[in-house]
Amino acid sequence: MAQLSDDCFAFGGALLGVDAALALIEARIAPVVGEEVVPLSAAAGRILARDIVAQFDVPPHANSAVDGFALAHADLLPDRETALPVAGRAAAGHPLGREAARGEAIRIFTGAPMPEGTDTVMMQEDCVIEGGRVRIKPGIKKGANRRHAGEDVAAGSVALPAGHRLKPADLGLAAALGNDRLTVFRPLRAALVSTGDEVSEPGTPLAPGAIYDANRVMLAALLRAQGCLVSDLGICPDDAAGLADTLAAAAAGHDLIVTSGGVSTGEEDHVRAAIEKLGRLDFWRLAIKPGRPVALGQLNGVPLIGLPGNPVAAALTFAILARPLILRLAGAAIAPPLTFPVPAGFAYRKKAGRREYLRATLAREGGAIIARKYPKDGAGILSSIVQSDGFVILDESLSELVPGGIVEFLPFSEVFAS
Ligand code: AMP
Ligand code: MG
Repeated sequence: MAQLSDDCFAFGGALLGVDAALALIEARIAPVVGEEVVPLSAAAGRILARDIVAQFDVPPHANSAVDGFALAHADLLPDRETALPVAGRAAAGHPLGREAARGEAIRIFTGAPMPEGTDTVMMQEDCVIEGGRVRIKPGIKKGANRRHAGEDVAAGSVALPAGHRLKPADLGLAAALGNDRLTVFRPLRAALVSTGDEVSEPGTPLAPGAIYDANRVMLAALLRAQGCLVSDLGICPDDAAGLADTLAAAAAGHDLIVTSGGVSTGEEDHVRAAIEKLGRLDFWRLAIKPGRPVALGQLNGVPLIGLPGNPVAAALTFAILARPLILRLAGAAIAPPLTFPVPAGFAYRKKAGRREYLRATLAREGGAIIARKYPKDGAGILSSIVQSDGFVILDESLSELVPGGIVEFLPFSEVFAS
């Protein structure tokens, strides 16, 4: 399938806005994965490669929504009780097997096909049964308690579109349409590397000045939640030659390379040097906070995204940029994550011209839900994500927020969960 074009991320000049960055991803990145057929039971989380078109109506036949008596509404007296003989029985999986005659009531159970000649079902709780007859009160509407054929999915319609990430209810719908296998995209193979001389493997002793690698295990879980097969390539020291070897090897067997750290412009930021040596690298200086420059580039046609080292910035840029990049490469339709407006429970000042993402919890105050900002802003404070529910998004145009001002809230579940 299509590879990245040569100028895929080329961008020079001033800070690039988040929306412009997302538009570039949408325009310049194409799916790189082929198709495979998997059993329906193994398809959760996979991305549908072909539309599922309904070959028949679901439900396939009109049926009863309740236990009761099926009848023709025209047989009921409008202003007093009607007594009808109970002339047959229809249960789920056991149709009546004949047309109902006028003046008959048919004992019916939930899910049983509506007998021909009937159009309405009286709930058993609302009937009186006497001998072989049922007494029915006046007032029920024509068509009550009848489910129509095709009211869920009509024959010929697209029940699930290609590019859709399959969730449990989607599998249920695919099964209702008779599918036992689905054509999905092959999972994206992602290579993951941490960088930094100070970054150490948890479980090993910590040298003076060192810290444990918080990013790699977090990013691996985030990648898996987006459906990627992850190759953990460990920690690379701040050494351009060693990094170049690791990244070159990674490009051979993967569809995407994800790194963290080493993408700023400092002299210990070697990801840039390594990639420039091997492929093409374009920094994106994004108008986003937190999140220092994010590196986007390619090695032998394999896209690479270099996330910032600070864990909060790494998580945020993953959510805002890496996730749509992954979805696009993996053949998924990209829909903007769902956000909703809430009043801010805090005051805040920011620089106009960049988008800020504050970590916040949702709290009930009076009858309303408000967003409370996590007290510390630092891009290294991972507790701010651990103890929050989502991001409050402050748009480029905003410079001052007053308490009660309406902000958009992006739940973590929209961008961090599968
Ligand atoms: P860098 O982007 O490499 O300049 O790193 C920015 C900050 O993030 C520094 O304080 C690093 O120590 C820290 N950092 C980088 N990588 C990691 C990591 N894998 N886990 C935790 N912190 C990191
Ligand atoms: Mg570093």
